[in-house]
Amino acid sequence: MKFFIINSGSSSIKYQVIDMTTETVLAAGLVERIGEVYGRLKNTAFPGTRDEQESVIEQPIPDHRGGMQLVIATLTDKDNGVICNASEICAIGHRVVHGGEDFRGSMRITPTVIEALQRNIPLAPLHNPANLDGIRVAMEIFPQVPQVAVFDTAFHQTMPPRAYLYAIPYELYEQDRVRRYGFHGTSHRFVAGECARLLGKPLAECNLITIHLGNGCSMTAIENGCSIDTSLGMTPLEGLVMGTRSGDVDPALHLFLKQNKGMELEAIDALLNKESGLKGLCGMNDMRDIHEAAAEGDVRAQQAVEVQTYRNRKYIGAYMAVLGRVDGIVFTAGIGENDPIVRAESLEGLEAFGVRLDPERNGLRSKKARCISAPDSTVRVFVIPTNEELAIAREVAQVLRG
Ligand code: AMP
Repeated sequence: MKFFIINSGSSSIKYQVIDMTTETVLAAGLVERIGEVYGRLKNTAFPGTRDEQESVIEQPIPDHRGGMQLVIATLTDKDNGVICNASEICAIGHRVVHGGEDFRGSMRITPTVIEALQRNIPLAPLHNPANLDGIRVAMEIFPQVPQVAVFDTAFHQTMPPRAYLYAIPYELYEQDRVRRYGFHGTSHRFVAGECARLLGKPLAECNLITIHLGNGCSMTAIENGCSIDTSLGMTPLEGLVMGTRSGDVDPALHLFLKQNKGMELEAIDALLNKESGLKGLCGMNDMRDIHEAAAEGDVRAQQAVEVQTYRNRKYIGAYMAVLGRVDGIVFTAGIGENDPIVRAESLEGLEAFGVRLDPERNGLRSKKARCISAPDSTVRVFVIPTNEELAIAREVAQVLRG
């Protein structure tokens, strides 16, 4: 039961091979710089009985087809390979960024699904074409293997109109599907499921706030196991303060920047996506560097942490109001899993709402899912490592079971 999980970007392919009988990763890797003079494949094999083995290949990789063929050659390599031949792959899961309103769950890929993905390109003009490249190449190379699309947006399709509509002319929703969609759905769904297990309740009875804090950041309000609101919007720019993305700003900022700085819309979009967030505030986007600078007295680094954690707190408060009863708050992803300072500051002042951290539990380093709230906290707080590839693989298994 070996599944091949693919996340195809515009010039990259990230992948894992997972043995689903034991849910163990057999190989993980990344093809980068597709289409550039020199491409690069880095593969780590986990052969089980032997130590993990890393291999790097640098050579021109003209396109996604070439990249995928190089991955397969590496996976089936006589010395380092984790499979004997490609026919051992019994299913393929593709991460797809935008399913628009067409997909409420993961789907077996058919020509109709591909058509719908093409229709959604205007909503994700950078990501969906790259995802489609990966799908087309995998379908060509593995014509007999069932392939499943797992959407970043699907989990949030349960949001009600009051949460997903923007207060702009309704025709823009009707004609152009301008609305909030939300992203990171696979991650939110995965940690919600794990949290329900830790709470000892069916997910369908859990009210949760899941907080994904990595380079991209998002928060989701989950009622009875379903997403009812989330911080990312029509694109992954809205909401929380992220590594290089601004999150919420006044939409009139665009006009201001055009009129006062002579900036074109594309430049403003790049500024908000690539030069803003933590990086815009203090020049750094890795939270470890920011803490180091903050500890040395860098005021802008200190302020960046404050701006991010204050925004987190505002959204937590909003989602508590939306949900009424909250069983658990979950932190996940690079910052959420590893940063006790950001977790503590994000929850500061919420004691009156029944949220009390246990400072000792919060400070412990661990790769395991764990509770970090005090015994008398009415809302339990958890750190739950996300695993998007495993989540995708589980989705694939579920779709194929029917
Ligand atoms: P992700 O997008 O989930 O891979 O998260 C990447 C981000 O997590 C990095 O840019 C860092 O800001 C942050 N990160 C990773 N490790 C740590 C750590 N030990 N402490 C604080 N932040 C971390």
